[in-house]
Amino acid sequence: MSLPSRDPILLTPGPLTTSLATKVAMLRDWGSWDAAFNAVTAVVRRQLLQLVHGEGTHTVVPMQGSGTFSVEAAINTLVPRDGHVLVLINGAYGVRMAKLTAMMGRRVSTFETAEDVPTTPADVERLLAGDASITHVGLIHCETSTGILNPLPEIAAVVARHGRRLIVDAMSSFAALPIDARTVPFDAVIAASGKCVEGPPGMGFVIVREAALAGCAGNSTSLALDLFDQWQYMEKTTQWRYTPPTHVVVAFAAALEQLAAEGGPPARRARYAANCRTLVEGMAGLGLRPFLRPEIQAPIIVTFHAPSDPAYNFKRFYEGVRDRGFVLYPGKLTRVETFRVGCIGAVGPDEMRQAVYAVRDTLADLGIRPAALAASRAPG
Ligand SMILES: *Cc1c(COP(=O)(O)O)cnc(C)c1O
Repeated sequence: MSLPSRDPILLTPGPLTTSLATKVAMLRDWGSWDAAFNAVTAVVRRQLLQLVHGEGTHTVVPMQGSGTFSVEAAINTLVPRDGHVLVLINGAYGVRMAKLTAMMGRRVSTFETAEDVPTTPADVERLLAGDASITHVGLIHCETSTGILNPLPEIAAVVARHGRRLIVDAMSSFAALPIDARTVPFDAVIAASGKCVEGPPGMGFVIVREAALAGCAGNSTSLALDLFDQWQYMEKTTQWRYTPPTHVVVAFAAALEQLAAEGGPPARRARYAANCRTLVEGMAGLGLRPFLRPEIQAPIIVTFHAPSDPAYNFKRFYEGVRDRGFVLYPGKLTRVETFRVGCIGAVGPDEMRQAVYAVRDTLADLGIRPAALAASRAPG
């Protein structure tokens, strides 16, 4: 049983486990007019821009709220009211982007592949060649509902060759998987504080091509989510347009410092890859298989097939693992019974090994015999 005084480790795709330094950064109150706070905002914007090498071409506009608020702000501001967005879907976040685009009153088309099939550049080539009315393409970089990686650089090249604009939901990949604005053409990359930068949840941000954003006055049908107005106000005053999530911004700044100290996105990616490998190998020892093939699995979150044993029940499984100190995530697939384990957050391979032990002991409690062990014993 975990101690009630100790937080469980969150193996979820956000909120996730943050470091002590990030938590401690939240123990101060800041005034939103204060120059010291606005200097923090400026540093955060600059550092985010440097992470994608967007200096001189792009700008960073932070936005209050969870990640979805920033996706909605980006679509509603960057797509003209008579624009037409092609959303590439292979999971729940693609479905969400298509839904909010339609709700913002924009024309939307969708292209959907199975949850274990990435969109290919050839798909996008065919779709854009076949419909000149498409102005924007919406892509989910890592589709967190399974952990599948879509080929961003290759798709971005096709979109640019056709003279269309690309809007990327990079929520669960930003700061861990490479995104380089010098070589990957995009109008917007969207992410949030509480994912791979390992800050607390509460703000998102859009890295947007400045020349594109400059022409977007009056596009937004929303007052609070108008990315253009947020940008203009911040440029003029250095302040957020409405009340900023001050504690989150300051903790996010601390998390960005720790990202740099760790060695930036390449080092973070290496740690997450080690987490993912340790997890998948450990779970294989229990007979639990990932849903995705390794070639298309991003080292962000792993979807596992649930044990086929009739004694399996997600709620009891979840509670057993949580009582041992680890929070897992339900599956998001409709056709197969799965659960998910995140590889991101202020955790390393040791925590992943301990999580596997927690899963092993919980399965034993539920009377579920590890399939692999059962199989290896069978011949004897
Ligand atoms: C987390 C996430 C979001 C945003 O979800 P919120 O619950 O609004 O924070 C959007 N897209 C992807 C791919 C995500 O992983």
